Amino acid sequence: MTEHNPHHEKTLSIDEFHWHIGLLQNLDVGLIVLDERYRVHLWNTFMANYSGLSDSEVRERNLFELFPDLPSSWFKRKLDTVFHLRNRAFITWQERPWLFNFKPNRPFTGKAAQMYQNVTLIPLTSPDGEVRQIGILIYDMTDAAVSHKDLQAANQELARLSRTDRLTGLHNRGYWEECLQHEYDRFLRSSRSSSLIMLDIDHFKQINDTYGHQAGDQVIRSLARLISEHIRSTDSAGRYGGEEFGILLPDTSDSHAEVLAERLRRAAQESKIYYGDETIRFTLSLGIAESQIDDAHYENWLKRADDALYRSKQNGRNQTTLD
Ligand code: GH3
Ligand code: MG
Ligand code: MG
Repeated sequence: MTEHNPHHEKTLSIDEFHWHIGLLQNLDVGLIVLDERYRVHLWNTFMANYSGLSDSEVRERNLFELFPDLPSSWFKRKLDTVFHLRNRAFITWQERPWLFNFKPNRPFTGKAAQMYQNVTLIPLTSPDGEVRQIGILIYDMTDAAVSHKDLQAANQELARLSRTDRLTGLHNRGYWEECLQHEYDRFLRSSRSSSLIMLDIDHFKQINDTYGHQAGDQVIRSLARLISEHIRSTDSAGRYGGEEFGILLPDTSDSHAEVLAERLRRAAQESKIYYGDETIRFTLSLGIAESQIDDAHYENWLKRADDALYRSKQNGRNQTTLD
């Protein structure tokens, strides 16, 4: 209210004042008013309900003493900026999930242990034009945050499925070739060689014909597990075709790759797959190629490994051939 312009400013009637306060108290939004020394001047029902501290317990007290968990230096800087620049400030749950450590109380949000919050800081101008108080609005964003996180998790799962071979859980051909391409491009930049092993089950048609397609699937799954057990976490294995697999070994020479290939070949030869009453045995043919600048493209590297595999087949199977 100014004395200069009595017609312009109007004092709230007692009635109006009451319903203003009633509205503020019942908003489903937290409302706090702080002064320059961070003392509380307004604390609505939302804040009282979630904090467990009533208006009379917090009034005139320093917010940071009441809530030692608050990120005080960061939040004081925000508040001081609003005091000085007289601009609003916003903090979203994406930047900082919550300001006040409140437990959400709605059943739908059972998945979240904390209430996610958006926060708005509003400079409150007194009649003399000074900003001595700040209004803080706390919005409960838990529903939005939970749906957002669910969506992200679903998208991640979808992305994982689109890269994975259903039968074996290894990379599918498309994604494995992407890995191969990346690895070849990395090799061109760094010139540190990588190796590629291609392998195929010998006489697999006979396994299918003798024991049935389901048994064949079981053999393919067992081989995938055997491969996973033999490789390092930095290697990538993929199912390239029906019973043909590729293993990419970053930063590995062909002679080191050969050690792994031979270990895998012997493990396959010794493995027994129990299917019903049957015991199925199988062997592998493998081909190895080390990355070369002359390949120019990952597909030529892949072709050299595949050609080496073909020579293993021609020379009698159950063996490893280096390009
Ligand atoms: P080789 O030693 O020359 O490799 O002989 P092979 O009989 O294994 O010949 P090839 O690799 O050409 O045959 C692959 C067979 O694998 C043909 C196909 O019927 C079978 N196959 C392909 N995909 C699957 C699958 O997902 N499950 C089963 N059970 N069989 C498959
Ligand atoms: Mg085969
Ligand atoms: Mg094959």
